[in-house]
Amino acid sequence: MRIAVAGIMHESNTFNPQPTPLEAFRVQRGAELLSWWRDSPHEVGGFIAGAQKFGYEIFSTLMAQATPGGPVTGDAFERLTRELQERLARAPRLDGLLLALHGAMVSEDHADADGELLRRLRARFGPDFPLVVTHDYHANIAQRVVDLSTVLIIYKTYPHLDHRERGLQAASLIARTIRGEIRPVQALVKPPMLLNIVRQNTNLPPMDGVMAAARALEAEPAVLAASVAGGYQYADVPELGPAAVVVTDGAPALARDAAGQLADHLWAIRERLHFKLPDVAQAVRQAGASERRPVILVDMGDNIGGGSSGDSTFILHELLRQGLSGWVVVLADPEAAAACARAGVGAALRLAVGGKRYRLHGEPVEVSGRVKCLHDGRYEESEVRHDGQRYHDQGLSALLEMDGPPAEIASYLLLTSRRQTPFSLGQLLSVGLQPARQRVLVVKAAIAWRAAYEAIAGEIIEVDSPGVTAVNPAHFRYFRAPALWGLPASADSDEVKYDKPH
Ligand SMILES: [Zn+2]
Repeated sequence: MRIAVAGIMHESNTFNPQPTPLEAFRVQRGAELLSWWRDSPHEVGGFIAGAQKFGYEIFSTLMAQATPGGPVTGDAFERLTRELQERLARAPRLDGLLLALHGAMVSEDHADADGELLRRLRARFGPDFPLVVTHDYHANIAQRVVDLSTVLIIYKTYPHLDHRERGLQAASLIARTIRGEIRPVQALVKPPMLLNIVRQNTNLPPMDGVMAAARALEAEPAVLAASVAGGYQYADVPELGPAAVVVTDGAPALARDAAGQLADHLWAIRERLHFKLPDVAQAVRQAGASERRPVILVDMGDNIGGGSSGDSTFILHELLRQGLSGWVVVLADPEAAAACARAGVGAALRLAVGGKRYRLHGEPVEVSGRVKCLHDGRYEESEVRHDGQRYHDQGLSALLEMDGPPAEIASYLLLTSRRQTPFSLGQLLSVGLQPARQRVLVVKAAIAWRAAYEAIAGEIIEVDSPGVTAVNPAHFRYFRAPALWGLPASADSDEVKYDKPH
């Protein structure tokens, strides 16, 4: 039994004006794919581990992944898709394909780029070829993705910590399908609502209950997989919103009923999704008054994992204005990092940082300090974290110790050359910081950072900061999204009707 392994993954923020080009993707091919991903907690690691466990041989093709950002350029989508097709065409006879897709990829030409890729693959392999797909929890799922895949499996956790488990589940189901032991059929049901990212944490109510229901369904013998996607609100696409997908063994009515049950469960929690977060000035004031440390200020509007630039200056500006000390802010600013490198360790300098990518993220801020450390930006994470990655590279990085009145603990600005999601404490530890000792840590994220930071957090303050990942959808104008409960752009959001398909 020979199974191809592949992945093209991107979460595309349609409100981010900077498209994602081919160069933004890190791509592993053939043997390199296997060595890169084998020991990672990622679903591709699960696909690879499945070979031995479920008795198949792997044909390794390509795995391409970029940090979330603006829509993928038409050129990048075409070139990656073409290369994958060419590699598959060179394979000896294949019995199936395991494919890792994010589920929220938008290209300049395709609002449902994942579906377009699947359409091309299905056209090549025909309707009966086993094609098992995995998705991130932040997927906006199109009906055609469910129609075109043999099995669709979605992460069950946010922060995402079950990638590898889902990869192994996909591996098991494809091997059993090829052996003729099961005949998967699946159904998709989407309640017409927005599930705001602020309430998507699967460890907390109300989503913990929904995920428990999915797990309970999956424990039933005829159910092969039961998944819930939270959806991805930063994409103005027709498929915006959460979804339930259930796969059964040859029982289409059961798949529809069970997916309907999970969708009902989502619909029933909508009144528990309301929230009110402090704005930047209020949040910094709260952090300054807190006795606990470190206080984590969550910069929701500049959530790098949600496709933001990582250089927003609103919170930095406010920390300086209110005169707090003992803070750490990380900014993606290659020009500033390079200026620090030119100046050298120990040099004192004054420079303008951040706010350089697009207008939504504030103005550059003038800072002065001393270069404490320079680093090549590479670090390794040995624990299971949200992104399933082991090897990290934030590019040439500079740690600047800020000037200011004498304080018990200094404030630091970490300037990186690449946007780096704060999903590993390695980001700070690698430059010699001791994050648990600082008074305030700013994370440019929403929920995912918690897997790494929650254990050291004294207090957590989620901030309603501006930016391309602002949590209030009223900040954006949606044109292609359908009418959804909770989406202010939808006329009479409270009147959205749920026409139950079951
Ligand atoms: Zn995600």
